[in-house]
Amino acid sequence: MNQHIRVRFAPSPTGPLHIGGVRTALYNYLFAKKHGGDFLLRIEDTDQTRFVEGAETYIKESLDWCGISYDEGPEQPGDCGPYRQSERKDLYAEYVDQLIGNGRAYYAFDTAEELDAKRKEAEQQGTKFSYGPKNRDDLNNSLHLSAEELKVRLENEEAYVIRFKTEAHKTLELHDEIRGYIEVDTEVLDDKILFKSDGMPTYHLANIVDDHLMKITHVIRGEEWLPSLPLHVSLYQAFGWEAPKFAHLPLILKPSGKGKLSKRDGDQLGFPVFPIEWIDPASGAVSAGYREEGYLPETLTNMLALLGWNDGTDQEFFSLEEMVEKFELSRVHKSGAKFDPEKTEWFQHHYLQEQPVEDLVDQFLPILASNDVYPEKTYVKEVVATIKERATFVSDFWELSFFYFVAPTEFDAKSAKKAWKNDSEEWMRALIGKLESLEDFSKDKVQAEVKDWINTQGLGFGKIMQPLRLSLVGAMRGPDVFHIAASIGKAETLSRLHFAMEKLS
Ligand code: GLU
Repeated sequence: MNQHIRVRFAPSPTGPLHIGGVRTALYNYLFAKKHGGDFLLRIEDTDQTRFVEGAETYIKESLDWCGISYDEGPEQPGDCGPYRQSERKDLYAEYVDQLIGNGRAYYAFDTAEELDAKRKEAEQQGTKFSYGPKNRDDLNNSLHLSAEELKVRLENEEAYVIRFKTEAHKTLELHDEIRGYIEVDTEVLDDKILFKSDGMPTYHLANIVDDHLMKITHVIRGEEWLPSLPLHVSLYQAFGWEAPKFAHLPLILKPSGKGKLSKRDGDQLGFPVFPIEWIDPASGAVSAGYREEGYLPETLTNMLALLGWNDGTDQEFFSLEEMVEKFELSRVHKSGAKFDPEKTEWFQHHYLQEQPVEDLVDQFLPILASNDVYPEKTYVKEVVATIKERATFVSDFWELSFFYFVAPTEFDAKSAKKAWKNDSEEWMRALIGKLESLEDFSKDKVQAEVKDWINTQGLGFGKIMQPLRLSLVGAMRGPDVFHIAASIGKAETLSRLHFAMEKLS
């Protein structure tokens, strides 16, 4: 490809960005970077009625957290700015005038009441009202007004909208990079509103004009925009502009596969559907975000990349750099991709293991402090290195390792029943005697000595190891008992054994 690739992510700041939106941004980013092109962020905020305070900041913060950086955008100006449509509003009128001039758009004066009446009438006849090629000649618009009549109406400041004049009796040949060729008969289309009398363009007009002016070569967006494709391609034709290539990404489905994953599913299904936490400015309601739930951005981007794409092999772990290298639009699937929260945790487990231990320690220290323990960093490092394999989140660390820092104060009843037998007290007393005699309390030494001692006593291993573990941990879990004993030291090991004997006998 010797064309200079330019793609954009064009969210409307109407609320938090759903993970489907993050995937759209990600695929655009991957495609741009793969081809040495540019990735733009354009804020589509022409619909002031749907504007939500804080949504734009939220979008930028989400992309930033995911590592999806843009080359041009509101705070990253390039040659095609501004990148917020509300700051470009003066420019759209000129383009809609072009379409009026060449007969591809017209003024429509129908009032809300008139249109409502038409809708009701159609409903009564069991049909649906649609403003388009079949009926526009009978409606209240400039198509059948003389130039003079139109002038008078405009001078009288009659309220109007400007509609696109869909070409009648035409079959549009559309092409989608993922879906291939699609034929659409213009008879099924309506004359969409391009411009409102408040001087604001609608999404359709602003989107096409901006994609053209911003030299966008590929429009990569969600499948929900596929129905707009005929209009968008028709608009390019009406302007006489070369259209970009289009790729509509498959839907992300609920885990059940039944229906599209919606913004509300997060609360209902118990996993986040937003990249970062969102606090609704109107109600104060909090929606969970992956970041705040302790996920790593690598988890989210890897998981999202595979929702609708693979590289043709069985590989499942991809760093962002690797995705850039391997990404192909032609390998994006057509059918919906089922969201899988368990798989997401599986990715998270993997990426947590990849984190430098120092970083994990830094995240664990505040949790330790909140439990009122302030150990040496090197000690915490050793503990984290030992237990992280069992953890999916840093927030799992305390539960997996508290016994390295504090003595158990109670014993899990089920474990105690299983591990502490009638003769356990006696054997633990003997073990204490053995441990007291050890000068070197390193893990290897303790392990070798205790194992030897068990053997010479002719005992089963469990007879000693089970009550020992119970005494040190408070339950029948945790890593190697000798590692725990050596880590907490001789005095603490003995003290825990005494406490257990007191409590359990
Ligand atoms: N503003 C649209 C949205 O919110 C953009 C759709 C497109 O990419 O064309 O998704």
